[in-house]
Amino acid sequence: MSLLLSAGLRRRQFITKPRFSLAALRPFVPEPALNAARGGLFFWFFLCVLSVLCGGIPGFASVQKIAPDLYAYVSENDGSANATFLVTAQGILVVDTGVNRQEGEKLLAEIRRISAVPVRYIVNTHYHPDHRAGNSAVGPEAAIISTAFTRDQRAGQSEAYPATADSLAFAGHLTLYLGPYEVEIFHPGPAHTRGDAVVYFPRQHALATGDLFLTNSCPAMDDGDMENWISALDSILALDAQTFVPGHFEVAQRPQLQRFRNYLAAIRDQVKPRFAAGLPLRRIQAELELKAYGDFRQFPQYEATFAGNAASYLQQLSARKKPAEK
Ligand SMILES: [Zn+2]
Repeated sequence: MSLLLSAGLRRRQFITKPRFSLAALRPFVPEPALNAARGGLFFWFFLCVLSVLCGGIPGFASVQKIAPDLYAYVSENDGSANATFLVTAQGILVVDTGVNRQEGEKLLAEIRRISAVPVRYIVNTHYHPDHRAGNSAVGPEAAIISTAFTRDQRAGQSEAYPATADSLAFAGHLTLYLGPYEVEIFHPGPAHTRGDAVVYFPRQHALATGDLFLTNSCPAMDDGDMENWISALDSILALDAQTFVPGHFEVAQRPQLQRFRNYLAAIRDQVKPRFAAGLPLRRIQAELELKAYGDFRQFPQYEATFAGNAASYLQQLSARKKPAEK
């Protein structure tokens, strides 16, 4: 999970491989805003950890085989991210590793129930500690792959990069060949954060979304870009993928992903014209009509609510408008 900060962004990254159809993603230009008030590494860390308090009943993580040699690890701890792992005779690739060493060890124990081959690659979908602070437990000698933006973020970095591990940073798109499989890792532009990666397993028709998608849940927003986030989800939906491992909560299929995308679009479609008409945030929030998504989990203390998402998006719109006024 993460949250609603708004920060400067004057770039975009596209997938260069045309089959992803991501070249249509548009650039947006939010600016620094709320981070001074809310920033800080500890804030991020506690955001991730404390979400345990507002959801989920303690239990056991579940491991599901979602396709040949591909497994989803659904964390029972809502403050610790899900993982996805691909098992081959040539090595294992793991996407995201949990909020701390303990969670990473739990994940590794589940992997070891299936295979004893080394974990050769870890992909971190973004920098939030609940997705990468288990790296050193899961794969102390694995190569750690992320976007360059994620690699550069300090939050959780000390846990994410053990001295024994190589790290690989990419911009745009990376194809990894492991055993008989190809793994497509790409950065669809700013969305949940400015450096998200999603991991597509074409042979398995499956995709690990990181926090670009949470099943039946209102997302927290970092300093990404909500409109591009919607475009990124459209691009994901254009792929031949049927099964999605979200950043948190249960494994999903296309209808849940489509519904999450539609929720973000509903926010956009209600906030944008009211912003253009000059309405203040409180009025916009009061006028939101999102009953269709009333079953979504919300996390008020982190502004991961419908009103919080509206505020975050409004901040992005305000930041985008300022350069044109100068
Ligand atoms: Zn996150």
